[in-house]
Amino acid sequence: MEATVTTPVDVMAVLNKRPLIISGPCSAETEEQVLATAQRLAATGKVDALRAGIWKPRTRPGSFEGIGTKGLPWLQQAKKLTGLPTAVEVATGKQVEDALHFEVDILWIGARTTVNPFSVQEVADALRGANVPVLIKNPINPDLELWTGAVERVAKAGVKYIGLIHRGFSSYGNTEYRNAPMWHLGIEMRRRNPDLLMVCDPSHMAGRRDILQDTAQRAVDLGYDGLMIESHIDPDKAWSDAKQQVTPEKLAEMLDAIKWRHESTQEAEFLSALAKLREQINHIDDELLSLMAQRMKISEKIGQYKKENNITILQTSRWNEILERAIRKGEKQGLGKEFITKYFDAVHLESIRHQNKVMNED
Ligand code: PEP
Ligand code: MN
Repeated sequence: MEATVTTPVDVMAVLNKRPLIISGPCSAETEEQVLATAQRLAATGKVDALRAGIWKPRTRPGSFEGIGTKGLPWLQQAKKLTGLPTAVEVATGKQVEDALHFEVDILWIGARTTVNPFSVQEVADALRGANVPVLIKNPINPDLELWTGAVERVAKAGVKYIGLIHRGFSSYGNTEYRNAPMWHLGIEMRRRNPDLLMVCDPSHMAGRRDILQDTAQRAVDLGYDGLMIESHIDPDKAWSDAKQQVTPEKLAEMLDAIKWRHESTQEAEFLSALAKLREQINHIDDELLSLMAQRMKISEKIGQYKKENNITILQTSRWNEILERAIRKGEKQGLGKEFITKYFDAVHLESIRHQNKVMNED
């Protein structure tokens, strides 16, 4: 017989731990998987609460949509075996009722729910009178008002303990991240709500294992209160989010490797300012790239005309005109002549490559 823990879980004491580490699978899949994950996570001694998705909001139909209510007793059992409180995502009133019925200790509202005030209100209404802590993930889109609105709706329903989870934001185009952290938004949300727990979910930001550690470290450097990281006993075989999950043992290694900072407010302020500036640079770089791609599309159009009219690609006089104009304009704005020349040479080469491609197509 396995040892079971019978003392009730002191959820508030757990939520006050710093750093607070919440971990568990993206989705509860089978009873064995939930119990094995929970026990291996507990054995690390580094995890404070267990998470598992029971109802999975999926972007596309046909993906695994969660095991549903039948998984809740598995979590109850996981709690008994480990003594760790459990956390589940809820998106409807019925899910709140079911989760509470099966004694889930912490509920969270997912990013796809936070975007929708109707859903948040439904969840908030179901929470009325229940004394359960609720963590609210940022909405999918970078809109702090929606995030704030969700906090207000849940608070108005009388929920006493509210926390925030920063899981990154969806952004157009391919970025390194599955969900761009946009750290400045997390920082701003924290500035507006200094008394709320602020946890980072690097798993959903990163979307892949190789940048998970760095992403978690960034959050720690910025003074977040804790981390929610997905863990699975056999990550590659996970029914959802296989690319971003790590085994419980790997999680323990990651947590050991993190440099936990003793945050002086000065350091946190400096890092916040730095993150804000870096984010601005990222935005500008993204814009430059997309403008450059647009520029190349126009070059291709020109290539098409040249082809139809039998004109050569390279027209030196036009190129000299572009360069002179750029140097004149750029120098006025404080850019060096050498830099402008190098930059435009590179742009020119890329442009010729695009025109060549068009002219050599049948
Ligand atoms: C999850 O935590 O598994 C999840 C679905 O997260 P998010 O709402 O951040 O996408
Ligand atoms: Mn997930």
